[in-house]
Amino acid sequence: MYRDTTLIDELARVAALQRLAVLDTGPEEPFENIVALVRAVLAVPMAAVSLLDEDRQWFKARSGVAVPETPREISFCTHTINQRDPLVIPDAIKDRRFADNPMVVGEPGIRAYAGVPLRTADGYNVGSLCAVDTRPREFGSAEIAMLSAFARVVVDQLELRRIAGRDQLTGALTRRGFIESAMQEIERFRRYGRIASIVMIDIDHFKAINDTHGHPAGDAVLREVAGILRGQERASDLLGRIGGEEFAMLMPETNAQGALAVAERLRAAIATTPVEAGSGIQLQVTASFGIAQLDAAIINPDGWFAAADVPLYAAKRAGRNCCVAVSGPASS
Ligand code: GH3
Ligand code: MG
Ligand code: MG
Repeated sequence: MYRDTTLIDELARVAALQRLAVLDTGPEEPFENIVALVRAVLAVPMAAVSLLDEDRQWFKARSGVAVPETPREISFCTHTINQRDPLVIPDAIKDRRFADNPMVVGEPGIRAYAGVPLRTADGYNVGSLCAVDTRPREFGSAEIAMLSAFARVVVDQLELRRIAGRDQLTGALTRRGFIESAMQEIERFRRYGRIASIVMIDIDHFKAINDTHGHPAGDAVLREVAGILRGQERASDLLGRIGGEEFAMLMPETNAQGALAVAERLRAAIATTPVEAGSGIQLQVTASFGIAQLDAAIINPDGWFAAADVPLYAAKRAGRNCCVAVSGPASS
């Protein structure tokens, strides 16, 4: 008999949450709007989009809630995600599970709670949309229906964010998603002086692959090359597809010299791995690499890409299938 394990498989649930790539991101308008609406429509002093990480609840959006996260064991929402239906607590003091909860007996003095599970398309409750009051109260069925409708909007927004951030063909970050991460690195460099490098990767003579074997073969090559690159990346590196047959790897905490060493490994892996281009065709492809370390003159992602394009073109001119770093103090 088919058994639905989505409510009890905690590892798979946390993995589903991680796939959304939303934890510890900044405030975003759709979620801010929804918590403001929940507060107004249900007339409660607190509302939040709560995501249940392994050992904490983290708020993607909160209104009237003072803290950005709480330990998971004291959270109400950790109970909500154990069920498919909304969890409604008219008076927390009269409920054995919550009567001695520190958020009930202490700040912020929770008395009433209504939470609707945030259920992903693949069936995992990654968190809850909740309305919280400091006085006991009932929630009417129309109010719960409203909260449930808002919860569906939250999940749709979370999944749309993910689709927009990932390239469907290669699974790499889209240009837009990559730019967002590059911006964070530029900001970290500006504020804390944390170094980072990008490696621009352009497949050699890719047009000839399309012309000789057809566009679907070209697509297969893109997918395979992305797979090879991902197989070599370190946990903190990020792979993006920047343009048609151009990729980039973002390497935090890495100077040009370190990035050049990684790029050399990537180059060798591509050059030595036969690529399946479909219909039994195996191809040997190569790519050229340009490396640029962040410096104070780089103020936005486009500037950073342009800085890496210069050595990339030098690598093309030098005969392709090679890596070049911007000359400078770190790469000397
Ligand atoms: P070089 O060694 O100088 O980089 O030569 P190249 O042929 O790779 O360079 P060029 O930029 O002229 O060609 C890139 C080609 O990539 C042109 C375009 O038709 C093809 N292309 C861009 N996006 C895609 C895609 O999504 N799928 C496929 N199959 N081809 C694409
Ligand atoms: Mg190109
Ligand atoms: Mg090319």
